[in-house]
Amino acid sequence: TQVPNITLNTGAEMPQLGFGVFQVPADEVVEPVLTAIEAGYRSIDTAAVYGNEEGVGKAIAEAPVAREDLFVTTKLWNDRQGYDSTLRAFDESLTKLGLDYVDLYLIHWPSPGQDLFVETWKAFEKLHADGRAKAIGVSNFQIPHLRRLSEETEVVPAVNQIELHPNLPQSNLRAFHSEHGIATEAWSPLGQGKGLLDDATLGSLAEKYGKSPAQIALRWSIQQGNVVIPKSVTPSRVRENIEVFDFELADDDVAEINSLETGVRVGPDPDVFG
Ligand code: NAD
Repeated sequence: TQVPNITLNTGAEMPQLGFGVFQVPADEVVEPVLTAIEAGYRSIDTAAVYGNEEGVGKAIAEAPVAREDLFVTTKLWNDRQGYDSTLRAFDESLTKLGLDYVDLYLIHWPSPGQDLFVETWKAFEKLHADGRAKAIGVSNFQIPHLRRLSEETEVVPAVNQIELHPNLPQSNLRAFHSEHGIATEAWSPLGQGKGLLDDATLGSLAEKYGKSPAQIALRWSIQQGNVVIPKSVTPSRVRENIEVFDFELADDDVAEINSLETGVRVGPDPDVFG
């Protein structure tokens, strides 16, 4: 399967669907990443705090695909925020990945209690200027955090990676992003698989389209223009989750999925976390 790209505000292309590796131990991550690449995934989403950058790097080195044809994202953990410590943390991530650049580097959480994300972003701007992070972005930023960056720094984030699934469609943030040229990347696009995939609406749409509830949830997000990064270590599911570009949800079915909004998060509240 060939995944379409979106164009970031840097001009770079980013696959609209990638492979997430949250909660996959370093020594178990190589196989799933290779399975994903074999299935057609070209984007991999890791983070320093996932503890598996070395394993991801090993998979990239072993993969039958050239480095420049992959889109690699990693993230700065909260305890490394601040100008100098960000530069050091980035070096450590690159070393673990065995790469000389990443395609996207993200501030993992705004961690507003620390009040360091502006300084941190200035270090990100340097990494971007040096070409070691081809694009820079943020994750879990709320509108006031994004406004503060735009008031106090130069580079507009290419991406904001946020929790987004049918229970949490994030309409306000998405509207802000499109006004400012920031791409919306959806984490936990399956709601971590828990209750969401058992939902009756997704179940009946799955039957109607001859797809799985997971594929319906991913397609719904893709049709909004979001980047999605589903995670699985089960080979059949890894392959299933990328088969979402051969059908289209009708408008009234999209509307029905929109009605699943509850506002309930599976992850922490970015205004207080970190
Ligand atoms: P997800 O929504 O991708 O759900 C993953 C879980 O859903 C799997 O563990 C499995 O239990 C189930 N699942 C996967 N495919 C399925 C299928 N086809 N059918 C049935 N069940 C299926 O959740 P996630 O891992 O939290 O999020 C995806 C990625 O987003 C992560 O791996 C990570 O890369 C990223 N993420 C980022 C942040 C952040 O703060 N920036 C936070 C969480 C996750």
